[in-house]
This record gives sequence, C-alpha cells and structure tokens, in this order.
Amino acid sequence: MQITTKAGSAASAGARHSILNLPLVPPQQRLTLNLLPDPVAPSPAALIGAPESSPSLVRRARPVLQGSHFSYLSPLPLSFPYEFPAEEAEEAESLGNKLEREIEQEQNDANKDAELTEEQQQAKELEAHRKRMRQIEVMMQRYEVQPSSVGGGASAGSTSKLEGHLPPGRLGQHFPSARLLSISPAALEDCLPHLDIGDSLEWIKSQHGRARPESYSSGPMASPPSSDAAKARFELSDLLSGRLIGAQLAGNGNGQSADKDAQVGTGTAYLAHKEAVEKGAAKDETDQERIERRIGELEERRRQGDDVGYAPWSLCYAGHQFGSWAGQLGDGRAITLLETKDPTTGERWDIQLKGAGRTPYSRFADGLATLGSSVREFLGSEAMGALGVPTSRALAVVSIPDLKVLRERINGAAITTRLCPSWLRIGSFQIHSSRSEWESSRMLGEYVARDLFGWTDVVKGGSIEAADAASGVERKPWARRLIEEVARRNARTIALWQVNGFMHGVMNTDNISLLGHTIDYGPYAFMDIFDEGQICNHSDGEGRYAYRLQPTMGVFAIRELVNALAPLVGFEIQEGRAPAPGDLLRLKSDEINALKKLAREQASEEIETTFTSTLMDEWKRGWAKRLGLQDAGSEDGKGRLIEPLLAALADLDFPTTLRSLCRLPAFLKAHGLSGAIIEGDSDMEARLKEVLRDFALGDKAQGREGLYDEKVVPEYMRSAKMDQFRPWLLDYAKRLLQEGRDGDQVTAEMKKANPRFVLRNWVTTEVVEKLEKDNDTEALERVLQMCIRPFEDWGLPAEGKSEEQVSEEARLCSIGRSLTGNLPSCSS
Ligand code: AMP
Ligand code: MG
Repeated sequence: MQITTKAGSAASAGARHSILNLPLVPPQQRLTLNLLPDPVAPSPAALIGAPESSPSLVRRARPVLQGSHFSYLSPLPLSFPYEFPAEEAEEAESLGNKLEREIEQEQNDANKDAELTEEQQQAKELEAHRKRMRQIEVMMQRYEVQPSSVGGGASAGSTSKLEGHLPPGRLGQHFPSARLLSISPAALEDCLPHLDIGDSLEWIKSQHGRARPESYSSGPMASPPSSDAAKARFELSDLLSGRLIGAQLAGNGNGQSADKDAQVGTGTAYLAHKEAVEKGAAKDETDQERIERRIGELEERRRQGDDVGYAPWSLCYAGHQFGSWAGQLGDGRAITLLETKDPTTGERWDIQLKGAGRTPYSRFADGLATLGSSVREFLGSEAMGALGVPTSRALAVVSIPDLKVLRERINGAAITTRLCPSWLRIGSFQIHSSRSEWESSRMLGEYVARDLFGWTDVVKGGSIEAADAASGVERKPWARRLIEEVARRNARTIALWQVNGFMHGVMNTDNISLLGHTIDYGPYAFMDIFDEGQICNHSDGEGRYAYRLQPTMGVFAIRELVNALAPLVGFEIQEGRAPAPGDLLRLKSDEINALKKLAREQASEEIETTFTSTLMDEWKRGWAKRLGLQDAGSEDGKGRLIEPLLAALADLDFPTTLRSLCRLPAFLKAHGLSGAIIEGDSDMEARLKEVLRDFALGDKAQGREGLYDEKVVPEYMRSAKMDQFRPWLLDYAKRLLQEGRDGDQVTAEMKKANPRFVLRNWVTTEVVEKLEKDNDTEALERVLQMCIRPFEDWGLPAEGKSEEQVSEEARLCSIGRSLTGNLPSCSS
C-alpha cells in the first residue's frame, strides 16, 4: 500500500491513500450488502470473464426484476454499438474463431436450405443467431476480469480495499486513453482529504495546450509512470476514466458463492435456466420464493460478516419525468466505483463515474457523456458546493478524446467523477412500489434510515421466517419519519436554489435525492436577468420546471415519495411498529390498498405542510442572510421585503444587483446614517432618500458603480427602473438601520453571502470551446477557481494580479451573452 502524508497540512494529518487503497465503508454499512443485486450478475464474481458470465447482458437494456436494487458491472467506455477491432478478433481466435467458421459453413450451406421445412429453417436461423451472440460474449469477456487474475492481487482477501484489474481487451492500443483535465481542490479537501492524487495537478498544468498522445495521463497510449507520484496519478486517471477495474472478486470463498443463484448460474446460463422453467422443462422456485430466499441469504451474509467481495454497480430506479410515469430508468450512464469513509470525520462519500459506458439501464442510449456536459456538471457541482447549497460534488473531469459521442454533432467523450454520500433517489423507492415489491422497499428504507440518516433505533433486517414478536425485537416506526426527513432536506435545498437563482431544469422524481443533495446537473442554469418564469431546459416547452415553480415541483416529488411508501406508513399507523421482514409479503392486495388509504388520510397533508413550511423558513432565512438582516422574522416574510424585492429585480441582472447591494450598509454608515429612523421624522427620512439616490446612481468620477449594471439597463430605462426600485430600497434601508448593526460589518457579511462570481452559461460554453479547440486547461482552471471561491473580489485590482488578469476576471463575472436565447445545449 502506498501511503504518503500531506506535508505541513494540519487539516489532514492522517495518511493518504491512492484511489484503489481508499478505505471502504465497513461491510455492514455497504449498499451492496444491504440491498439486492440484479439476478443476472448476483455477486461481484460474476464480473469475471468466464464462459457463462455473459458480460453483454449487463450492457443490454432490460427490465431488472426480482426486487433488485442494483446491478454489478464494470465501467466500459466504448462507443456503442460496440465495434471490436480486427486484431482483437484475431487474438480471440482460440475462443471465437471456431464459432465464426461454423457460422460461415452454415451460410455456405444455404442453398441446401431450400430442402428444409419452414420449422427447420427457423430452428437453424435461431441456432446461427445464438452462435453470433456467443461470439459477442467471447469478445466482451476480454474486457472483463480474467479468471487467471483473480485471487492473486496484492490485497486479495482484504475487505477494506480494492484490487486493480486490467483485462486484456483494455490493454491494446485501440482502447481509448484518457486525459485528466481538472481536479477540484475544493472537492478533494472537503470530501476526500485522505486521497493521494500523486502528481496529477502538476501533470495537468504541464500539459496545457498540448495535444494527444503526449497529453494522455493514463491508458495504453500514455507513457508509463516512472515515479510513485506518477503512479498514483496513473492509477487515479485509469480508474476515473473507466479503464482500470477496482474490485474484490475473491471474497471468502475465492469466488465460490454458496448462493443458489450462483448454482443456477449467472448471465446466459441463468436466463437459459429461467426459460426452461417457463417452458416447464425444469422446476424452480416461484419468483416470490426466490425473492424470499435471496433476502434470506443476504441477511445471513450480513449477520455472518460474510465477504462476498466488492465491485462497481449501477442503481435501478424509476420515476416521473415531466409529470408522467416513465417506468424503469436507473443509472443509464452512472457507475458507482466505491463507498469510502473518511477515517477522521467519519463522513461517507460514494465515488461515481458519469459517462463510463452502458448499463442495463441505458435503454437506447450509449452510456457516454460529451465533454461539454461533463464540464458543465463538474463546474456546476463545485459552484453550488461553494455557495453552501447541499449538492453532489465533482472531484475530477477526464476527457477521452478518441472516443466519439454522437449527439446533434460528433463530440469528444469525457467522464465526470461525482461524489455524494448516497446516490439514492425518490425514484429508488418508486421502482419497487410500481412493482409491489414491498420487501425491497422495506430493505431500502431500513438502509437509508439506519446507515445513511444514522438512526440507530431503526432495526435493519432479520430473518423472514422468525416472527419478530417471538424474538422480542422492537421495531420502531421509520417510514413516515424517513419521508419527513427527505421532505425537510429537499425543502431546504430547493429554498436555497431559489435564493441563489439556481434552476435545476429536470426535477423529475428520479433526479430528487433522498439525502436532499442537488443531483444530476443537466440543463441547469444560474439566473442572470431576473425573470421568475425563466425556463432553462429547452425540452421543457410548458415551463414545468421554470424557476418560480421549483418549490411546487418539490411538493410533487414528495407526494410521489408518500405514494411509494404508503403501505409501509399505513402499516406503521395500524400496527404501531415498523414491518418486520416478511410482514408485507403476507399482505393481500386489498390489505395493501387499505394501508395506502390510511397513510394518505393520516399522513399526506402533514408531510406536505412540513415540506412547505420548511421551505418558507429556509427561503426567508436565506434571503435575510443575503440582505444582511439578522431577523428572518415573519414581518420580513413574503409581504414585507422579499417578494417586493423579487418584483423590483425584474429585468435586472440578479447576481450583480445583489452584489452591489452589499455596499449599502457601509455606504449608509459613511454618510452618517445609523440608528432607527423615527416614524414621522421627515428630515431624517428626506436625508435617507437622498443618500439612497446617490447610492443607486453611483458616481463615475469616483469610480463608484451604481446599483444597476449599465450594460443591462439601457439609459432610457434607468429612471423607470429607479422608480421601480426606490420604494423597496427605502424600506430595506430602514430595516437595516433599525437593526442598528455596524454598517461595515454588515457589508462584510453580505459579501460572504452574495457571490461576485456566478457560473453563467456563456462562461461554461466558452471554457468547453477553448478545451475543444486549443486544449486550453488554463481557462478551465481559472473558472474552477472562481467557482470554488465565488465571494472574492474578482475583477478588482489586487497585489500580484496583472491588469489583464483583473480585466479577464471582470469579463467572466459580467453578463456576457444572457441566458435567454442561450440555453444549455441538449448534447449531453
Ligand atoms: P436524466 O433526466 O438526465 O436524469 O436522464 C434520465 C435517464 O436517462 C437516466 O436514467 C439516465 O441515466 C439516462 N440517460 C441519459 N443519458 C444517457 C446516455 N447517454 N446513456 C445512457 N443512459 C442515459
Ligand atoms: Mg437523472
């Protein structure tokens, strides 16, 4: 194991580990040991490229059934449909050539087919098809871990870290190499201070402006690493570009699982078995029995601390898209590599790749992401993190220049490394409720409550057969509590979206996190010219997810979560305890319906009220902070200050106007105004009005900007705009004075709540263009720095800053091309 210590940094006195050596969360708290895997690949060992593992099955779009929560798979960033290179086919001679020859032989025999009956011909075609399919499997197995490489890894048998596997198919020159474009120092410090990134940052800097192949940071075309620091970078880049597979495939039984699933076989063997059962040619459990057995085995494994190994996975979920039920969705291009726990803070982070290839949930798409959408997600997540909005974070973005992604045009591919304590969503419950898989809902709920929310009074699992009443387990209700927690967390997040002028763009229920983080940065945008009706997603013609409707759409999502968990909530109301394993299995559908009704009658309204009142409180608190007011009391609520402000902001640039307002408290102080304005003291009021007029107009001669960005408000509109703003400004100034705080201090505080830099759409677009055209990683780095420190005085002269630098910063803070007519491209 490679351990280095961060020299001189008090923040992380602990050891740092290369990415494969990051400490994993303890087995008991792992998602994969608490939830059910896809039956096609029931354990990490199924990723071994053995004849019956059928690797193409984990890339084939299909319904993933039997109560499954996730699918094991390895990242595979290749263009889709897959094309295997000719030399590879030759290499696969021993395995695949025989099949190829047989197919050819049969084609040569085609003229004999005239003599066959229709039935014989069909059977023959089917056989030929099967052979072709098998050949694909043979090719694909070369991209999976080879049986010979299992068990011999440096850390074989250890449950705390991963082994790196590089299958032969990924070694050849045709496998796309990767280039690290950026690593966020903020994500590293906030989430993974124990990660050793080697010389990655220096490497990125040194490769600015260079073109491949010299700029590859890992992969078959990159120069092999020579120092330890280079090794850590290579390993990081290889893992984050989806080439290197990090897994533990040996497990306790050296890949031999005692599961009946494994005996039935995985991949095609499993499917063939199922087909035989359906035809009555073989006997097997019913689906119900099978689910019960699988849950039982999982329980047993967890109880015994049995080590099944570890491998990446994609989540199965469903959702409502634009208000309509969309059925199974799932991680179509997201693959979670590992869950790590910071040894010092105990915080948990799930490391996930977005755009690393097909999964069973990819439907018709390629599982890849464009450079543009990846950079958008990378910068957007980090910008939101710095604004203090709960969000998934982005550690890195890696481009794969030789991998092409077809959208409206051909794009280069890239992969974002995203971090979140959990990637579970409201849709994670909906998939199971839509299929009446109540045991899966129970397992998921217990896991979220106990391991993610940390509610130690929630009992997880137990045996399905053993009646809990007899074993004396007290099962505290958790379902309603869980929904309320999800509601509160999302209410807070959405309130902060509003306060920060953030538009998510696709608030489908599959994009609403159970932990309340902002997730899935697609067509998001930050508000520039303020318009409450702003729509940022150009496929949202009706404006369902317009800025002003985001809170309402939050209510919709929470209502769907209530619907999904209604039988469990109803059960808890009726029985006064949470359901034990098996309890829900025994209920008939009319009993389930009665429980749903009970939940709707007794819980729905209150939960929605919890959501809306939390949102209102957080919204007021957030605005009070932006306005430098200590009292977020009710008199400053909707009626008094905030709604009139929003009306007054119409057509003004949201970020710059609010940043300008920060100067007001100090300005009032400098003009001798302090203390409350006494009602009826017309002299004082007149003086205040005069000062406010000066403030709003600015003074060019003194280099003092006015309240408005002159590029936004044309000359002829200024006086009308001023009239619109004046009454509010007067009200606001009075409130500031009434609080009686020191003006300079309030101004300083407000500057920490009103960012100078906001990531505007045009800025991201420009960064991407520069990357595409000139491999300009410096532009990306500059904008990243501004994203992670948005409150600094960007664009103002400061020591050590050249004039060009200052003006470039000011340009990046400016309105540029406004959002309207410049919506995010849909080339995702
Ligand atoms: P979104 O609304 O962006 O969250 O996407 C909806 C669903 O489509 C999710 O399940 C995504 O994983 C999936 N998806 C989006 N783009 C792709 C892609 N290029 N390949 C595979 N799946 C995708
Ligand atoms: Mg999504």
